[in-house]
Amino acid sequence: MGFTMPEGFLFGVSTAATQIEGGEVGSNWNDWYHKGRIKDGSDPAVADDHWNRVEEDTVLLTELGTQIYRFGIEWARIMPAENKVDQDAVAHYRSEIEGLVDRGIKPLLTIHHFSNPMWFEEKGGFLKKENCVHYFHLLKTIVRNFGDLVSEYITVNEPNVYASNGFMWGEWSPGIKSFSKCFTVLSNLAHCHIEGYRLIHDMREKMGFTDTKVSFANHMRAYAPKNAKNPFHRMTSKMVEYLFEGALTDAMLLGKFRWPMRNLHRDKRGEYADFNAVNYYTRSTISGFQDGVKENSPRNDLDWEIYPEGLIICANKLLKRLDRPIWVTENGTCDFNDSFRSRYIYDHLKTIAESGLPFERYYHWCFMDNFEWIEGNTARFGLVRNDFDTQTRTVNKSGRFYAEIIENNGVTDEMFDKYVKDEEYNIR
Ligand code: BGC
Repeated sequence: MGFTMPEGFLFGVSTAATQIEGGEVGSNWNDWYHKGRIKDGSDPAVADDHWNRVEEDTVLLTELGTQIYRFGIEWARIMPAENKVDQDAVAHYRSEIEGLVDRGIKPLLTIHHFSNPMWFEEKGGFLKKENCVHYFHLLKTIVRNFGDLVSEYITVNEPNVYASNGFMWGEWSPGIKSFSKCFTVLSNLAHCHIEGYRLIHDMREKMGFTDTKVSFANHMRAYAPKNAKNPFHRMTSKMVEYLFEGALTDAMLLGKFRWPMRNLHRDKRGEYADFNAVNYYTRSTISGFQDGVKENSPRNDLDWEIYPEGLIICANKLLKRLDRPIWVTENGTCDFNDSFRSRYIYDHLKTIAESGLPFERYYHWCFMDNFEWIEGNTARFGLVRNDFDTQTRTVNKSGRFYAEIIENNGVTDEMFDKYVKDEEYNIR
């Protein structure tokens, strides 16, 4: 029942600026809220009010025993207008990072996580090739100001989720529904990553550092045909996997652009990651050109299948392309009552521990309940519960379990009995 993680394995939590900070900052998410597009009406200007509670939240991270912390910078805050850097915001982030480093928590900084300033959106955002320069300005501002404290970076979070929701399905800002525009955005983001990878390494090398690590956070899934005997299901399962994940991964990691990705900036082939970063949540069950969920499967509160073995499938897909250690940069579940999250953590970590694959790190998503994009605050992913009216944080049972896991570098039989034994997944 118990298990131990490999020697030197590191545990942490993950967040994103827009999802926790709050504030009317002029981002596309503030705008999307004002357009009435958040399903439960939650206002991202509220979120966890983390911007004003950094100290309290950093203490909480320490209490959980967090060794590593993945978080993001809000572009609209540090660059409120084109070519303008807000020095107060820079100072705020710098002191937040110092607070982490002083407490022995190693930061992994995400440069872009689904959020753009409106001035960038209005210029056409990542649809325009020439706009990549603004992303590089952001990246350079970050590395120039925090590069002495931060050695590890995620250039872009989940380009496929960002581009498909915003440009293919039209559910996120800017609400476009176009296959070709979706792949234009993805092609530009691949360039942002490749060139960003090089820039971060160069800049930090000039600052005298040799410990730089850069990757992008790859949203990956396991895929299965709904009916394995049906050739159409088998074919579309392969196609969906290729279109949502495969073509993008080849471009981002290796500079290998295959249709429908386009090498718009003439990037060279290469190896553009120092670690393989995987964000893993679920498996897709495919019977056509859309997503689907296996019937009679364990599911979370958003109806996503819970399928721990999928993490190994994804790790192998990455390792086949590039031999780099695996960092799970997100893994977690929507569980309103925190009634199966401990089992979820147990199942996924056990799968990692028993895999024999080069997993080095695990960042649980999420540190605390937060603004879950168009789902709003209703979808709870936190190890820490947040009361959004009073902004009171309470460590969930799963949070206490996770803290004990960190302390023990694994799960003991006693911990299993205390936290996991009585938890069950919902089958639907
Ligand atoms: C994103 C997070 C999000 C999580 C849960 C990932 O796709 O990177 O921002 O909250 O999934 O939906």
